[in-house]
Amino acid sequence: MDKKYACYCGLYCENCAVKVNVEPAAKTLYQEMEKLGFEEIMPFFPDGATFWSFLKNMTTEGVCISCKAGSGNPGCRIRLCAKERNVEMCALCPSYPCELITALSNGYPTINHDNSILREKGWQAWAKLQDERRTKGVAFSYVKGGNE
Ligand code: SF4
Ligand code: SF4
Repeated sequence: MDKKYACYCGLYCENCAVKVNVEPAAKTLYQEMEKLGFEEIMPFFPDGATFWSFLKNMTTEGVCISCKAGSGNPGCRIRLCAKERNVEMCALCPSYPCELITALSNGYPTINHDNSILREKGWQAWAKLQDERRTKGVAFSYVKGGNE
């Protein structure tokens, strides 16, 4: 587990569906299109150059640099709050669980469980859980319509 991917709210960027599913899919699409010579012809498609550059960046720079480095919703109130309070993770905040975390957990059901592990068993247990999921290729689930 790399702490820089541990988001304030309790999610782990490396286990996000964007990282687990979208990034490899983008790489495959880019490689297959490149093999067929799309690099040369993309500028002739409407918005083709923009799309190609976006797809290429997804394969080289990745789709996400982590919540703590600035990815995700720039207006995320949890991140703003945690930074203001100088809290490394919400699970370690004296006000946990606040209404912001409670609302987020409606959309991300694993958050409550994972944050309990961090609070009760510490970083090592939390890291082990995230690493096990990563090894299995299991992304945390998102319930559509839940709050972010
Ligand atoms: S931007 Fe907010 S909701 Fe998204 S991972 Fe970071 S703290 Fe969690
Ligand atoms: S008040 Fe809530 S959102 Fe803010 S740092 Fe504490 S647990 Fe996180």
